[in-house]
Amino acid sequence: MFVVRSERGTSMAMLTPSVLLRTIGSLFGLALAAGCVTAGSPGPESIGAFQLGPVCAYESLRFDGSIGTGRLNGCRRDGPETFTLYIHPEDAPINPSSWYAFSLTSDTQTHLDLTLAYAHGRHRYAPHISSDGGQTWRTIDRIEGADTDRASFGLDIAPGTTLISAQPRRNLADRQAWIDGIAAMPGVTRTRYGTSEQGRSLDGLEFGAEDKPALILIGGQHPPEVRGAIAMESFVERLLEDDRLARAFREQFRVVLGPVINPDGIAEGHWRHNSRGVDVNRDWGPFTQAETRSFKDWIDGRVFPIAFLDFHGTWNSVLYTSPDEGEGDRNWFPGAFHASLTEVLGEDAPARVQGHNAGSSVAKNWFHETYAIPTITYEVSDAVPLEAVLSRARLSAEITMRLLLEGPPDQPDDAQDGEIPK
Ligand SMILES: [Zn+2]
Repeated sequence: MFVVRSERGTSMAMLTPSVLLRTIGSLFGLALAAGCVTAGSPGPESIGAFQLGPVCAYESLRFDGSIGTGRLNGCRRDGPETFTLYIHPEDAPINPSSWYAFSLTSDTQTHLDLTLAYAHGRHRYAPHISSDGGQTWRTIDRIEGADTDRASFGLDIAPGTTLISAQPRRNLADRQAWIDGIAAMPGVTRTRYGTSEQGRSLDGLEFGAEDKPALILIGGQHPPEVRGAIAMESFVERLLEDDRLARAFREQFRVVLGPVINPDGIAEGHWRHNSRGVDVNRDWGPFTQAETRSFKDWIDGRVFPIAFLDFHGTWNSVLYTSPDEGEGDRNWFPGAFHASLTEVLGEDAPARVQGHNAGSSVAKNWFHETYAIPTITYEVSDAVPLEAVLSRARLSAEITMRLLLEGPPDQPDDAQDGEIPK
């Protein structure tokens, strides 16, 4: 973990702003904080120290929130190396996933004191810093005001461009590049199953045996939940490996994947919603939005679902699952899945909660109730190290394949026909 010193006191002591500038700054800051300034306005519209995002350009420094990930709604220079950065959601009220991302280009080596000022949210995500274009990330854990709507931290930067993001970067282009890579693999079919509310392609991937029972996977419903997206990618890549377990699984089952359910929200840097202000994970059932309706229409009546996983990120790693009791002949799956994970991971295993969000139109409930299949919302903690996100998702894929091939652990006679690799 990366810790930097704070020079806040020193920087503030160097400030000699005029009363006028102070007044303008306060009013502008208040307007931004109250969400009065239109989010995503074209910039820069410089009024001296105060600039609207997504691009704020100062003499030797340039903040750029147009990198297609999170948002930067405005900036205020409070001192030579001291800045307040304003971060707004797409609308309100909203889930407090205070989501930001921008690049910072500097002509010189310098130390900056930055404050993230949120409207309609509090600080949530530790700043992830990359100075190699997003290849590697470190986090800043020493934050002043970490539990408030103004979070401050110090940052040493080298000349060049540094990425500062609430989570590692997975913008829409990154996610599409991943889809392109998977679609190019042998046996994988890519389908444009629909068009988002803003006209973006909704891409699905399928592989495994045609006309066999299908494992349904979805991801990308909530834009900031990048660790969930990374877990989904790792899970799918494991299913596609060329070992005995994965080959046997693909011979017995179909996999149907909607990797980016909410491309508009991801492209717009939204905290939660699609382009029409709807949480798409409250629209499975009503199907008022193209993003959910298209996926349902793509699979309904065409494939035969037998299990479902939906990948997300949240405060703590947890599996929200369909209940052990009820309709369906694989109700044992979520419990066995959790037990197998716990056997390997011990106290690092996710918790399991049955019946969470009962009665709400989340995907987990709709797939369970519609197809009488076991369903899991796979939630990855915001703070799990990336290596662990990857390795635990691989393990989860292996457990899923084994359980679906072998049947319930205590009833080996129910196993599918054929040789099951151990
Ligand atoms: Zn989510």
